[in-house]
Amino acid sequence: MGINGYLDHRLECPYCQTIRLRIPHDVEADTPISCEDCGEYLGCWDELLTDLEQQGGTSGVFQLEKGRIRKIG
Ligand SMILES: [Zn+2]
Repeated sequence: MGINGYLDHRLECPYCQTIRLRIPHDVEADTPISCEDCGEYLGCWDELLTDLEQQGGTSGVFQLEKGRIRKIG
């Protein structure tokens, strides 16, 4: 899926393997999201959120906190 198979069932940067994304406070569905560490473009927010929800949503494995997504545990 996607370019270079990004977000291939894992919400992490395919370039540096971190799970820290740069998410604006006023994020909207079509807001472009980039990796916080290497700055590579990962996709629009809607795409990332869809992928996130397929993995358990923000109350599952991942937690959305202060505009950042963290992996729990
Ligand atoms: Zn990165």
